[in-house]
Amino acid sequence: VKPRRQAKEEASAAAVSLVAKAVKTSRTDLQLAEAQADSARRITLRFNARLDYQSKRFFCHGCKKLIVPGVNARVRLGKGEPARLSVTCGRCGHVNRKILRRP
Ligand SMILES: [Zn+2]
Repeated sequence: VKPRRQAKEEASAAAVSLVAKAVKTSRTDLQLAEAQADSARRITLRFNARLDYQSKRFFCHGCKKLIVPGVNARVRLGKGEPARLSVTCGRCGHVNRKILRRP
């Protein structure tokens, strides 16, 4: 049996690579890509592990499914200050917002 911390780290790494694979697959086979993203999500839930920020953005906050800009999500730059990036999920319509702060 592996130490918990090590198992968690390995789970995170596996989930991140699965998300990357899913994003690549989504351009050809969205159904397979969603299955890959779903198993990545299940891994993180099983091990209570986190996804890094870049991978996390590929999940919709509303339906928890894979969202890929240009495939099943719409990305728009909102007005206002600071600017807002909104990613609309093509599946459930949830708008995932991100405030862009000046560095
Ligand atoms: Zn959604």
